[in-house]
Amino acid sequence: MPQANETVLEIDLKALKHNFNHLKSKLKNNTKFLAVVKAFAYGNEASEIANYLEKLDADYFAVAYVNEGIALRQSGITKPILVLHPQVNGFKTLIEYNLEPSLYSFRTLEAFINSASAEKTNNYPIHIKFNSGLNRLGFLEKDIETIISTINTSDTVEVKSLFSHLAASEDLDEKTFTLNQINTFKSIADTFEKQAGFKPMLHLCNTSGILNYPEAHLDMVRSGIGLYGFGNSEKENKNLIPIGTLKTIISQIHHIEKGDSVGYNRAFKSNSVQKTATLPIGHADGIRRQYGNEKGYVIINNMKAAIIGNVCMDMIMVDITNIDCTEGDEVIVFDSHTTAEDLAIAANTISYELITGISQRVKRCILTS
Ligand SMILES: *Cc1c(COP(=O)(O)O)cnc(C)c1O
Repeated sequence: MPQANETVLEIDLKALKHNFNHLKSKLKNNTKFLAVVKAFAYGNEASEIANYLEKLDADYFAVAYVNEGIALRQSGITKPILVLHPQVNGFKTLIEYNLEPSLYSFRTLEAFINSASAEKTNNYPIHIKFNSGLNRLGFLEKDIETIISTINTSDTVEVKSLFSHLAASEDLDEKTFTLNQINTFKSIADTFEKQAGFKPMLHLCNTSGILNYPEAHLDMVRSGIGLYGFGNSEKENKNLIPIGTLKTIISQIHHIEKGDSVGYNRAFKSNSVQKTATLPIGHADGIRRQYGNEKGYVIINNMKAAIIGNVCMDMIMVDITNIDCTEGDEVIVFDSHTTAEDLAIAANTISYELITGISQRVKRCILTS
């Protein structure tokens, strides 16, 4: 790996391929794989990642918003792209870029049919989202009859899939709840198929659903975090490789006397002679203030250096009293050994939040070998 000379997020496509193959190995041959690449592929880099996954034969992509889907189309993605949470004002553009909407309410369904009619589409693929217990987005089972009669008013749209989302697939203490969600969704699908007289594709599982509930893989699975190297459990993490390495360097070293303070608001006060390093990465880069005051840490020469004082916008200061290092040395914020999940847990959050929060100011570097 190249030596860092500034803050950089390296993205390892070999690790991505390993994770994709591992997750695929859990599926039956005919189960399709949808790669979730919303939020810049969880803070990595969506277009390179999606193009690589398209070559590896991922069947489908998903993003949250229309703009993210447009960026994928502009980067050359030709496979279908599901937009999980499109807004009504973007429907015309969504159709223009051949993106496929998730419709989760009568407001969105009716508005989409209107947009599709205005654009004179024929059998435009739509996906109907059901709420099976997450209580976030989705129709209910009792809505099915009206959904079908609404869709049957025109042939501008065609229901390509029915789907739902699990609330606690990573939490085995909630197994009863999850099994109930699975049953609810299967019953919704049965009712829909009987009343509509055709069988749309069915999908329910996110990464932890893939790993923990093989009986719920259905026609397609939707994986995000697993592709990026996290399995939401120690056991599953062993089989996956985090694809992102966040590196920076030491800008300056300071020798601190007893009683000196470090950083804004004097949040750190030294009670001995100490050595600190200032690093060019701060809360504007995604290392949020919750990592300050010795919650978070970085790795310098294989040793942990705690973040001391308050995180600044563009910098953090770390304690290097017992670490042999010099200005310009490389610093690891997270990699495949000291992972983003470890760091996230230290500050009371989850891998998802840390990696998606690495801001666009941080340079991305794609590693292909
Ligand atoms: C983000 C998202 C996923 C991906 O979940 P992971 O836990 O990252 O695999 C799947 N489905 C929906 C509806 C999502 O919003």
